[in-house]
Formats: sequence, structure tokens, C-alpha cells
Amino acid sequence: MSEPPSTIRAHQSDQVLEVSWDDGLSAKLPYRYLRGECPCASCHNEWTGERMFDPATLPLDLKLEGMEGIGNYAVRLAWNDGHSTGLYSWDTLRRLAQECPS
Ligand SMILES: [Zn+2]
Repeated sequence: MSEPPSTIRAHQSDQVLEVSWDDGLSAKLPYRYLRGECPCASCHNEWTGERMFDPATLPLDLKLEGMEGIGNYAVRLAWNDGHSTGLYSWDTLRRLAQECPS
């Protein structure tokens, strides 16, 4: 179980979510990348991990409409494409921060 990030900051005009941890890991995750990696069951097959949609179809002007902490293990991200069921656990955010292409 990963530690919670020390910082989660949305930069709406740059469309990146800045996430950093006390151990020095830090990343600016592009919204479309984050949205494409949404871990919810309607975005990724629970058993195979296969993505259920084409990330190229995501809107270019994707914005965050809300962030809500879930317990002390995850944050729920609500997007302006109407999707708000993705719970990004700290483990998931750390994985994405490490795998992020930028
Ligand atoms: Zn989803």
C-alpha cells in the first residue's frame, strides 16, 4: 500500500495533474493520459486489464470537474466528458507517475 501523495494539484490550463510524494517521486500527468488509464470497470476490463475504449476519442479540451478524496487510499476524479467513476488509488497514481511518457 503506497503512502498518500504530499501534493495533488490540478493545472487546468495546462491540463496536467501534478502529483508528488515525500520520497521525491513527482510527475505531471496529462489529463488525457490519466483519463485513458482510468481504472474503473467500464474503462478497463477487470479480468484482462484491456482498455474498453479508444483513448484517441477523448476530447482534446478534457478538464477536471472535481477531485474527491476516498478514505486515505484514493482520489476520485470527475472529468468534463461526464465520466466520474474512476478511483485512482495511491498505488495506481504512483504506477502512472512512473510510467508516464512525458
Ligand atoms: Zn473509467
